[in-house]
Amino acid sequence: MEGIMSDDSAAVHVKTEAVLRHDWQKAEVRAIYETPLLELVYRAQTVHRQFHQADRIQTCQLISIKTGGCPEDCAYCPQSAHYEADVERQGLQDPQQVIAVARDAAGRGVTRFCMGAAWREAPKGEDFEKVLEMVRGVSALGMEVCCTLGMLQEDQAVRLKEAGLTAYNHNLDTSPEFYGTIITTRVYEDRLRTLAAVRKAGITVCCGGILGMGERESDRVGLLQQLATLQPHPESVPINMLVRVEGTPLASAPALDPLEMVRAIATARFIMPASRVRLAAGRKQLSPEAVTLCFLAGANSIFVGEKLLTTSNPGPDEDQQLLQSLGMKPLESHAR
Ligand code: SF4
Repeated sequence: MEGIMSDDSAAVHVKTEAVLRHDWQKAEVRAIYETPLLELVYRAQTVHRQFHQADRIQTCQLISIKTGGCPEDCAYCPQSAHYEADVERQGLQDPQQVIAVARDAAGRGVTRFCMGAAWREAPKGEDFEKVLEMVRGVSALGMEVCCTLGMLQEDQAVRLKEAGLTAYNHNLDTSPEFYGTIITTRVYEDRLRTLAAVRKAGITVCCGGILGMGERESDRVGLLQQLATLQPHPESVPINMLVRVEGTPLASAPALDPLEMVRAIATARFIMPASRVRLAAGRKQLSPEAVTLCFLAGANSIFVGEKLLTTSNPGPDEDQQLLQSLGMKPLESHAR
């Protein structure tokens, strides 16, 4: 089956059945992104059902294992030392305490545990050993284990893999063209290098971006095209909505229309059909109806827990109530 989606200049033909492709052109991705919304959601949901169980949602918990004081200048981030956001700095947590939090999460049905540290790059020495201890401990609980520690060298990736790391999160954030407006302390190529080191070590990739930072539609399309031309696709694609934090340069960025989230998620689902698409930060700014539309568009993973690193997230009761009312069930862990 082949559909025609119109582009500014020319008709672009896009197959409506799902295919795993890595050669997506920007014009094709734009044509998909600009499809009338209900048609786009319908197509995305059709593709979703070819690759995923439609009533399953993965629940992940994200905690900050080292908070604030980061030397990078990501304009959206309250943990950057460049800005005056109200975030209390905290050194690396005790591994056993982190493992205890993971154990508690596992008891609540959470199947993926993500640990984030505000570093430019993963450290050497004692702190790295502590991170390895955390990974080993969480992995022993049978959970999928993910870390986000900044840039990573190949030997560090290998050691994390040996400790049981399932996934490494490293977001591209936005399009290559818009990247320099948001971050000046590193370049897009640095991100791609870390992603390559992660892949080489046999760790799965969690990589997505943030919408609502003042980017244009073409930047959202550019981000999605970058993700969909990675080979293989990231197994996990977090789509975040900017949380505007006082003290950061993006504190007064204009609010994003929630339907842009739906559109981006549907496009991600269409062009990366086998990946888990995660409705990540910013969920508190979405109504239950908008979240439902995101699920219909192909999101099949969420973060649970009241906090995401340093910003707030819907409480467990709220989430449970929504998932129950939609008849969604938790996805089992694929860690073993
Ligand atoms: S997003 Fe990560 S790398 Fe950027 S400032 Fe925040 S903690 Fe540092």
